[in-house]
Amino acid sequence: MSSSGAKITVALRMRPFSSREADEGAEQVVHMTGAPSVNSPQHTTCTLTDPDSGDIRKYVFDACFDSTNPAGSHNAGQQDVYVVLGAPLVLAALSGVNGCLFAYGQTGAGKTYSMMGVESAPGVVPLLLDALFAALDRNANPVVVASYLEIYNEELMDLLQPRSGGPLAVREHPARGVFVQGLARVGVTSAADAGRLLSEGSKMRSVAATAMNASSSRSHAVFMLDVSVDHPASGQRVNAKLNLVDLAGSERQAKTGTTGARFKEAVAINSSLSALGNVISALSKAAAKGSKPKHVAYRNSVLTRLLQQSLGGNSRTAMLAAVSPAHTNFEETLSTMRFAKRVR
Ligand code: ADP
Ligand code: MG
Repeated sequence: MSSSGAKITVALRMRPFSSREADEGAEQVVHMTGAPSVNSPQHTTCTLTDPDSGDIRKYVFDACFDSTNPAGSHNAGQQDVYVVLGAPLVLAALSGVNGCLFAYGQTGAGKTYSMMGVESAPGVVPLLLDALFAALDRNANPVVVASYLEIYNEELMDLLQPRSGGPLAVREHPARGVFVQGLARVGVTSAADAGRLLSEGSKMRSVAATAMNASSSRSHAVFMLDVSVDHPASGQRVNAKLNLVDLAGSERQAKTGTTGARFKEAVAINSSLSALGNVISALSKAAAKGSKPKHVAYRNSVLTRLLQQSLGGNSRTAMLAAVSPAHTNFEETLSTMRFAKRVR
């Protein structure tokens, strides 16, 4: 699907067993099928086994990244994920096409590992920044501007510039389109520059969460890049926005005993994730039919309102669905598989 230039790419990534899952002797319920080949270096199908009934469900995605194979066989690394989900967005941005990359899944499934990575294994975002800055031609007068914000309980907070005036507002301007009033916009001239902003902002995200006695896994973090260059062929100025989104954990809260602040959080997360699913699925259905989408409900969440212009129209969307291999997470994995299947 990605090779035909369709606009939505969905990949599933299964992380390795955690030490806790391994200690508990957890059973593996997700399996990649269809051996990777020269033409298709990743698996594209996987199965999910219901640990109670033994029922097996099969899913097809643009890629299924494994990490539970015995040594010597195929496991996907950060670079493999980048090639499928990140690289097409860099190419698109350089020709003026907007892009969004989302990481979806329950807390602990590997969203942040895949997006940001760790020191020894940088994730899709740093790899994308490296590639973007390496590809920018100085003669094309490149300008890259970064913003970093989080959405918590449907309120926007700037992660690059602390402010006292309460949450930021999304506005619409006839010429500028959708924008966040007062959001810091910082010019960046290298991948290292952008990387510093990312780590400062991520620190601020966890400090803010602690101050509110919450967990940063309960907010969506959105790193935005505005890229503009002179087009090599026409010489015209082309602009694109890239939005890299580490979504709030998709886990359902226990139905009983969830009250007050935690209940409010859960409602906000559920409704914004389902608004996102509805928007992407409407867009991908229309793309499959080659028609223009009608009545896309962007206004149902702050996230979809904010990203409206980068999701519809001239744009590419990539979704990473992160899952655990263990039977103890079966229900959440099933719900992630359903979400991923629906938006593709
Ligand atoms: P999330 O952001 O979805 O809550 P994390 O990315 O923090 O989850 O991952 C949870 C833990 O699993 C972390 O310790 C992380 O380093 C580890 N992890 C996740 N995915 C992988 C992977 N593909 N390979 C190795 N370790 C991983
Ligand atoms: Mg995380």
